[in-house]
Amino acid sequence: MSRNNRSWSERDLAVVWHPCSQMKDHEWLPMVPISHGEGPWLYDFDGRRYLDAISSWWVNLFGHAQLRIAGRIAAQARRLEHVLLAGATHQPIIELSERLVKLTPPGLDRVFYADIGSAAVEVALKMSHHYWRNMGRAGKRRFVTLANDYHGETLGALGIGDIALYKQAYGSLFHEALIAPSPDAWQAQPGESAAAFARRQFAGMEAILARHHEDLAAVIVEPLVQCASGMRMYHPVYLSLLRAACERYEVHLIVDEIAVGFGRTGTLFACEQAGITPDFMCLSKGLTGGFLPLAAVLLREPIYQAFYADYRQIERAFLHSHSYTGNPLACVAALATLDLIEEQDIIHANRERARWMAAAAEPLREHPHVGEVRQCGMILAIEMVQTRPRTPYPWQERRGLQVFRYGLEHECWLRPLGNVVYWMPPYVVTEEQIALLGKVTAQAIDHATRD
Ligand code: PMP
Repeated sequence: MSRNNRSWSERDLAVVWHPCSQMKDHEWLPMVPISHGEGPWLYDFDGRRYLDAISSWWVNLFGHAQLRIAGRIAAQARRLEHVLLAGATHQPIIELSERLVKLTPPGLDRVFYADIGSAAVEVALKMSHHYWRNMGRAGKRRFVTLANDYHGETLGALGIGDIALYKQAYGSLFHEALIAPSPDAWQAQPGESAAAFARRQFAGMEAILARHHEDLAAVIVEPLVQCASGMRMYHPVYLSLLRAACERYEVHLIVDEIAVGFGRTGTLFACEQAGITPDFMCLSKGLTGGFLPLAAVLLREPIYQAFYADYRQIERAFLHSHSYTGNPLACVAALATLDLIEEQDIIHANRERARWMAAAAEPLREHPHVGEVRQCGMILAIEMVQTRPRTPYPWQERRGLQVFRYGLEHECWLRPLGNVVYWMPPYVVTEEQIALLGKVTAQAIDHATRD
């Protein structure tokens, strides 16, 4: 059996359909077969390595093939690999639920499990509407989100998101959300602070709530960073205003922490920075340190109580299930991940890593084709522009793809979102590795913007 990149990629391209890709690109764009990973590095079959600057779509927290997490999974696999979670329970899920309740903002006292992030969003949407129905208010069936928010790819989650690129082919299939203006600080007027802009943009949300609250089940937001639309960052005051308004108008607040949870933004959960407790919090991705799919929805006890009824009122029960709900292997991966977060005092340790990232990106601030360098904790984004401050490159030019290709040739796995190059590295990245990332990113941007 041949063991080089070319043979694996030929076999792959004959049978695999890859996610989020135009497969025809692979007529000229190399498919990279990964042989193994260690720490922040991924290795291919030709012996080249790549620094995983984006944590494999933001899931990895402590590096690839992390021994503690791998060991816990292996031990659990020999004991109990899976059991259905209806009518049965197991030690890992009980321990994990207790810990998540303790770690998340006060008032989130109950956990429902799913397997992927999109499924967690579906659970929260369904549960929110079902709650209102159980309370005799079945008319509350619509959702509000922010312009440029993203919540996943299943029909329900995609429908209530706002990224045209992913939605355009499926418009006729959706239950569409109402869209409030984004507080994304990149859109602020010159001289306007992020907080002032967030307050100004909140007027649009307030107007939707005032007009439609009788029909609204919930508002769903990506807190602080709208990741998929290009790491668009906003001030926490928006979340405080939103929490208060949702209370006033009797509309649930669903906070989608799938991408930003577990320390990405500088606090364990992003909504801590606004000091709020949402009605629902969706978690996935980093929950298992990037090892296995698992998703959790945390919710307030009164919501749970609205479903708790005599069996004869069966329509009150939440009859939602996924086969792999609460998989024990994924739960022990999550427990090991939480141990590492605690033992390594990761929130504190990441402050220093975030400073290294800021320093490494500093020279890019003056680049003639960089409109903005923005950062929120362990997420740093560099907005490439045709002309400063804000004229974008046409998407057809695929400047981000040129950055990606350059990175591949220079040991860095960067996967820009359109014209936005970003770093969201695992929490084991060293100062030296971040310096490499800074150097290669600067060269890659020079290369991609040279004409
Ligand atoms: N919500 C957010 C904020 C996300 O970033 C993502 C994934 N990128 C999802 C939901 C969907 O998660 P999954 O891909 O696991 O379905």
